[in-house]
Formats: sequence, structure tokens, C-alpha cells
Amino acid sequence: MEEAIQFEPLPAERVEYTPPPQQEAKDRGWLGIAFIRLLSLAIVGAAVYYSTEGLVAMFVLFILVVPVEKIFPRHRGQKVRRPLYKLDMSYAMSSPLLNLIGLIAAAIVAIISFAWVPGLMMRPVVAQIPTEWLPVVGFLLFDFVSYWTHRFYHEIPILWKFHAVHHSTEHLDWVSGFRAHPFDGTLIAPAFAFLIAAGFSPEITGLFAIFQIVLGLLLHANVKFRLRWLHPFLGTPEMHHWHHSNEEEAIWTNYGAAIPLWDQVFGTYYMPKDKRPSVYGVDEYIEPNMVDQLMYPLKGIGNPFNIIRHPFRSMKVGIKFYWNLMKQMKWVIFRPRGMKPPM
Ligand SMILES: [Zn+2]
Ligand SMILES: [Zn+2]
Repeated sequence: MEEAIQFEPLPAERVEYTPPPQQEAKDRGWLGIAFIRLLSLAIVGAAVYYSTEGLVAMFVLFILVVPVEKIFPRHRGQKVRRPLYKLDMSYAMSSPLLNLIGLIAAAIVAIISFAWVPGLMMRPVVAQIPTEWLPVVGFLLFDFVSYWTHRFYHEIPILWKFHAVHHSTEHLDWVSGFRAHPFDGTLIAPAFAFLIAAGFSPEITGLFAIFQIVLGLLLHANVKFRLRWLHPFLGTPEMHHWHHSNEEEAIWTNYGAAIPLWDQVFGTYYMPKDKRPSVYGVDEYIEPNMVDQLMYPLKGIGNPFNIIRHPFRSMKVGIKFYWNLMKQMKWVIFRPRGMKPPM
């Protein structure tokens, strides 16, 4: 608690990463728009050529989820062809290619997150756990690390820029969960590294990861079931809808996917009985096309070839960046409960 007091008012290192002022929609002209459309089409085309898995996944979800959304809609009148549904379908179709890029990023994040260090430290403890309890303990630990990573992605501005793409959708339904920057997939990388280092098998850890991804997609569905009796124990669409809500009281809440336990423990649980979320999206302006969204978090980081041109200077920048990131993580861990983003 003392730490929490120490971090008020906000430390300077956090302010340093505040995203640039709101952008306005770009005035591209028809040639620019045609170019962006062509480029988006090329990405989708290349992705489907590489693998049709995204297409199949989208098809399966369409068959399974859309009828349920039609019969039990949460937001009545929201059509399947709601605004930007084509953008989210493009993400779904491109997912195999984007995931491939994401996988490389995830491997890097798994290493530099150092989540494997506490994992290695826990290895002797995990070795003592009876085999039949391993899946339960592993699941809780996976969820714990995912909770914190997700929280960092929201509360640290430079990481938020990646995750903001996922949150930019203003309509939640069967396909909206696909909209995510490929680097957003790095969200589960630290949990993966942690569990493997702690001695859990890659099979079971992979199962947790797949479960998290599939469940994540389903939690966006536009369905009205509240499942209130499950609220204290399980993540429901309502819980994730609140997570996507852009209403002030819901910002920085409900980071858990499968279970609300860690939100309850760390004070980010928000499930009012008498209210349901109605407004989704983010405050900042994010261009509604895939090309701009893929570039969105990378804006302002400078020329990547500078690493070759000025290796030492880049290293210094890298270390400073890393140091600031650690400081901000500390800030996030010890911030007062119930705190909202500084304006
Ligand atoms: Zn989120
Ligand atoms: Zn989501």
C-alpha cells in the first residue's frame, strides 16, 4: 500500500510515453485510398494463398455463432453487415499470415520478458505437485501471467498502441475478435515462457494457449446471455464486453478471459448488476483500414535501419526504453486500486 502512495502523483517516466495528440482522419485523395485498398487486398490475398485456415475458422464461427446472435442478440438491430464488418473479416482471412509474423514477435517477447526466470525458480516447487493437480495449477498460473501481461498492454501507453487496434472496434460480434495487431499475439508469450520454464509440458501449455485464443474469439459475440450465477467464477461475454466498453468506470477493468479470479484479487473486476455495457471502442482515432492499423503502433519509432547505421546509439536507446518499461511496469503493479487513466 505504501508503494501506491509513493506513486502519486504520476511519475515522470510514465508521462514520457503518453501517446501523441489525437490524430484526425487522413485526407488521402482517391489515389491514396485506392492504394491502401489494393495493399489490404494484397495482404488478404497473400494470406489466403499461404493458408485457408483463417477462412475456415471464420466460416465455422459464422455457422456456429451468427444463428445464436440472431436469436438472442445483446444489441438488437446490430446487423451482421454492421460498420467495418469487412475490415474484421479481412483480419480473419489474414490471420494465418499475421499469426506467422506474430509468432516471431512472440518468441522475442517470450525471451525478453524474462517471465522464464520466475518460471525456472518455481521449477522445484512445480515438481512436487501431484500429477493430477498439474492442469489446474498450470491453468491458474497461465491465467495469472496473462492477466498481468494484458494489464501492462492496457496501462503502459507504448504497449497500448499495439492492443488499441483490437479495442478500436465499436461493434462486438462473431468476427470482431479477429481484429488485432499481429504483435498483440505476444500477449500470451510471457505466460507460455513462464509455464514451460516452470516444468509444464509444451502440450498442456499449448492447450492453455489455444483455449485462451478460441475462448477469446467467442467472448466478443453479440449475445444476450448474462449467465449471472457464473459471474463470480467464470469469464462471460458480458465480462469481456465490459472490458471493451469505453465508458469511464469500465476503463482498465476485466483483464481476465477464462476466469475473473485475478481481476477480483487485484481490484480490476467490474460487473455491475444493474447495468450493461453500451459504448465500445477507444478515444484515439485509428484509421479504419488494415494497412494503417498495422502501422499504427509503429509510428514514431524511427527508421529500423538505424540499428545498423548507429548500433551503439540504438543499443543505448534500447536499454533506456527497457529501463523505462520496467519502471512503468512497477507503476502499474503498485498503482492505487480503482485508478483510471490519467487524462
Ligand atoms: Zn484488452
Ligand atoms: Zn477483446
